[in-house]
Amino acid sequence: MTHVIDGKRIAADIRETLRQEVTLLRERHGIVPGLAVVIVGDDPASKVYVRMKRQACETAGIASFHHELPGDTSQEVLLALIARLNADPAVHGILTQLPLPGHISERAILEAISPFKDVDGFHPYNVGMLAIGEPLFPPCTPFGVMELLRVEGIDPKSRHVVVVGRSNIVGKPMALLMLAAHATVTICHSRSADLPALVGSADILVAAVGRPRMIPGDWIREGAVVIDVGTNRLPDGSLCGDVDFESARLKASHITPSPGGVGPMTIAMLLKNTVKSARRAHGLD
Ligand code: NDP
Repeated sequence: MTHVIDGKRIAADIRETLRQEVTLLRERHGIVPGLAVVIVGDDPASKVYVRMKRQACETAGIASFHHELPGDTSQEVLLALIARLNADPAVHGILTQLPLPGHISERAILEAISPFKDVDGFHPYNVGMLAIGEPLFPPCTPFGVMELLRVEGIDPKSRHVVVVGRSNIVGKPMALLMLAAHATVTICHSRSADLPALVGSADILVAAVGRPRMIPGDWIREGAVVIDVGTNRLPDGSLCGDVDFESARLKASHITPSPGGVGPMTIAMLLKNTVKSARRAHGLD
C-alpha cells in the first residue's frame, strides 16, 4: 500500500514547534528572531512567495522586515540595503527573492549577504560548508526533503538515491545532503544518457527538473520512495509535479504529491534556519 507523504501536515507540525520555541526565546531571553525579505520588481510569482513567507513569519512570532524595491533599482542601492541589513542586530536572516532583474548580478548580491545571515544557504561560504559536510544553513528545499524523510522514518543510509536535476538551489545541495546522510548518490541532468534506466535504479528518487509529469510510473522501481520537488503550472492554471503521480503511486512505497509535498516544507525550513541564526547570534547554539 503506497503511503502518500503529507508535506502540509509535516510542515504545519514543524511550524508549530518553531512557534513554541520562538515564544520561549522571547520570554526567557528577550530574543525575537528577525527575517528581512528583499524583493526587487513586481514578478507576480515572487510576490506570492514573499507574501507567504511574511505570513509564515507572523504566525511563528518571527519579526519580518519587508523591503520592496522598484524594478529599476540599481545594484549599488541594493548592495547598500544589504550592508545595512548585515549590520542590523534585529535581523538574523536575509533573503533576496530570486530572480533579480537582469541588470543586477545575482552572484554579487548573494555574496554580499553575510554568510551568518544567509538563511537560504546560497552564499559560496555556505555552499562550501555544505560540500564539506558541515552546513550552517542547508538550502531550504533540499533541507525540507531531508526532514520529510526523517519524519517518515526513511533513512537514506546505504540506499541508492537518484537526483534528477543539478541546479544550485535544489539538485546539487540535495545530492550533498544525501551524501552526508551516507546514501550512494547519482545526479542526472539534461545530458544524462538513458534517464529511464537511471531513474529505475533508484531506491529513493528526487525529481527536481521543472517539466510537468515527465517521469512516468513505469520508469520507477517497485517499492521506491518518490520525492517530487517539481512545481509546474499547467495552461489551465493548476499545478503539478515532475512525476506522473497517478501512475507512480502504483509503484512507489512512499510518494509526495505536488502540490502539498515538498513545497510547504521550504518555508518551514526557512523559518527553522532563521531561528537557528537568532540562537547562534546570541550564543545559544
Ligand atoms: P532549474 O531549471 O534551475 O534546473 C532544472 C534541472 O533539470 C537542470 O539541472 C536541468 O539539466 C535538468 N533537466 C532539464 N530537463 C531535463 C531532462 N529532460 N532530463 C533530465 N534533466 C533535465 O530548476 P530548479 O532546480 O530551480 O527547479 C526544479 C523544479 O523544482 C521546478 O519545477 C521548480 O518549480 C521546483 N522548485 C520547487 C521548490 C519548492 O519549494 N517546492 C523550490 C525550488 C524549485 P541541465 O543542468 O543539464 O540544464
